[in-house]
Amino acid sequence: MDMQKEPGVGDFVLMDKIDLPHFMKNLKIRFNEGYIYTYIGEVCVSVNPYKNKNIYGPEYVSKYKGRELFENPPHIFAIADASHRTMKQQGKDTCIVISGESGSGKTEASKIIMKYIASVTNQDGQNEIERVKNVLIQSNSILEAFGNAKTNRNDNSSRFGKYMDINFDFKGDPIGGHISKYLLEKSRVIHQQQGERNFHCFYQLLSGATEDMLRKFHLTRDSQQYFFVKQGNAARVDSISDKNDYRTVQSSLLTLNFTAADQDTIWRIIAAILHMGNLEFVVDEEKLSMKKSKSIESAANLLQVKKSELERALCERVIAVRGDIMRKEHTVTEANFGRDALAKAVYDRLFSWIVDKINSAIDVDSNKIRNRFKNTVIGVLDIYGFEIFENNSFEQFCINYCNEKLQQLFIELVLKQEQEEYKREGIAWTNIDYFNNQIICELVDNSRNGILAIMDDACKMTAEKITDEQLLEAMDKNLKGHNHYMSRQIKPLEKNLKLKEEFRITHYAGDVTYSVIGFLDKNKDTLFQDFKRLFYSSMDTNIKEMWPEGAQDITQITKRPPTAGTIFKNSMLALVQNLQCKEPHYVRCIKPNDVKSSSLFDEERVKHQVSYLGLVENVRVRRAGFAHRQRYDKFLKRYKMISQFTWPNFRAGSDKDACKVIIDEYQFFNDVQYGKTKIFIRSPQTLFALEKVRNQL
Ligand code: ATP
Ligand code: MG
Repeated sequence: MDMQKEPGVGDFVLMDKIDLPHFMKNLKIRFNEGYIYTYIGEVCVSVNPYKNKNIYGPEYVSKYKGRELFENPPHIFAIADASHRTMKQQGKDTCIVISGESGSGKTEASKIIMKYIASVTNQDGQNEIERVKNVLIQSNSILEAFGNAKTNRNDNSSRFGKYMDINFDFKGDPIGGHISKYLLEKSRVIHQQQGERNFHCFYQLLSGATEDMLRKFHLTRDSQQYFFVKQGNAARVDSISDKNDYRTVQSSLLTLNFTAADQDTIWRIIAAILHMGNLEFVVDEEKLSMKKSKSIESAANLLQVKKSELERALCERVIAVRGDIMRKEHTVTEANFGRDALAKAVYDRLFSWIVDKINSAIDVDSNKIRNRFKNTVIGVLDIYGFEIFENNSFEQFCINYCNEKLQQLFIELVLKQEQEEYKREGIAWTNIDYFNNQIICELVDNSRNGILAIMDDACKMTAEKITDEQLLEAMDKNLKGHNHYMSRQIKPLEKNLKLKEEFRITHYAGDVTYSVIGFLDKNKDTLFQDFKRLFYSSMDTNIKEMWPEGAQDITQITKRPPTAGTIFKNSMLALVQNLQCKEPHYVRCIKPNDVKSSSLFDEERVKHQVSYLGLVENVRVRRAGFAHRQRYDKFLKRYKMISQFTWPNFRAGSDKDACKVIIDEYQFFNDVQYGKTKIFIRSPQTLFALEKVRNQL
């Protein structure tokens, strides 16, 4: 077997002893020798190499195409192939769930998987399928431009969750797809922590646009001129060429049928947001107005709305009191809040609009070749990884909750599946202890007293009355004594909590301290109606399309929209449900160090990840006495040549009987159990021995 030539073992279940030290040792040996993939059964563990590896070329594609996992050294291609093969051969929907903390390589892995699928499909070169493949692949550069940013953990960090369904026809060729996105971290549009950037597209525009375009947009190339992109003091990133990326995005937009007018809208909105960031308000003789600058005019021009109306929408709001319409002037604080909310909303809507456009280019229902054949799906999930920053807010809270949900799914599926397999096959099963993070999920999403529910209750109280501090008090009251929740009001002497307004959650992946300040506003996510009506009046039809509810009459708007937290929770529940009904494949990504080094294996950091991902438990469960299991027909296919009774033909019974003959001949009967459809082999040595015989033929 190829695996044996590699350093360590290619599958953790083949380790002599299963514990954390041995796991670490194997992972380290392999990483140091440049082997970044290792299996736990059918789960692929991937360590970010932080350098380009020559292992994704055509020769690797053909090596893995149509092969079983154990036939080749571990590789993410094998997972992609297994997922594709299962879908094709068994007509089942499958999904590939990629998890791991920020910077561990999830997004790269998802792209590698997509490229692999693209290279093994459409052998007869049909134009329409080729087009779909191009859209799927090129959508990445667009989504990353608008949805990724440099953070202090990752230069290209996903700031939205992405789940992509790829639809296949009966031949296994991609005929369409659909991207679902989850909660974009839109607060980044207005604020970046030290060392971080806004979304890539802002810098791409400033670096890549022609002089002519910049003039038209009233911009200068210098990002230092714009408050919304300069706060992190990190405009330049060594690993990124904004100028080249701008060109790539432009050409991808073309491929994806974004018209010249669409592209113009996109970049005009980005430019307008840059101008919005420079808007300031002053109070003169108790009247609020905009500080004089060209920015308001530029922003209005670019968004194709009347300057006077934009100005008015920023300075006051229209309210309906018992059917009467009144105007109310903002305070400076309200005006600043409104401007920021506007910039965030404009960006968020642009992002959604872009995703919708991409989806319509690959929508399988409107596709010409639809319905001709039954279609099946492979879903690829690439979300924002677990993260801890210097300051953690509502966004980190949601991101980390999302990671809890995925960990929960992993626990359920991996353990449940194993349990069911043993049951199905009639094999005795012993329970393995592991940490179940369900309790943390419930701390957040329990509909009675979870944090999200407490937050929603606070938001329902008549606006402005409840403060973030009061929210914290309510949380403390409800959650006091919870093992995974702590605040300084509960334990004043806690050292790690600096401020009174902080609370801490003990996540499965570590303790995170959140500042509660801003939680209620972000959860309410209010945007004054005036803005919606204003943009609905834009002369740019694309912008108008992004704000459909601007058509509503103000007196008709009574219902409070669901909160950001509730929308997110529901989208997570739907996601989990969706994944649950597909056959899952897992890629577990690990970050080797915090300094992006290709040679440093930071043992402490890796050990921590291995622990919280529950990988050792995964090996134990997987092994539960059996290092290897295989369907009888497949086992036979691989080993029938090692026995004269089964080679070239076995005439005396079923595949199972034939397998028994082989096992008996080599006297491995004490090490094997026979399930209904599969053979279960206890020790790896048996497998090695069989492989050895096979190789010596
Ligand atoms: P986040 O949760 O922040 O989005 P992530 O898990 O998606 O993080 P990636 O963006 O995929 O992380 O990876 C971070 C960086 O690590 C990449 O930009 C790339 O430089 C490097 N990297 C990851 N995987 C690979 C790989 N297989 N080969 C080479 N480099 C890689
Ligand atoms: Mg990512």
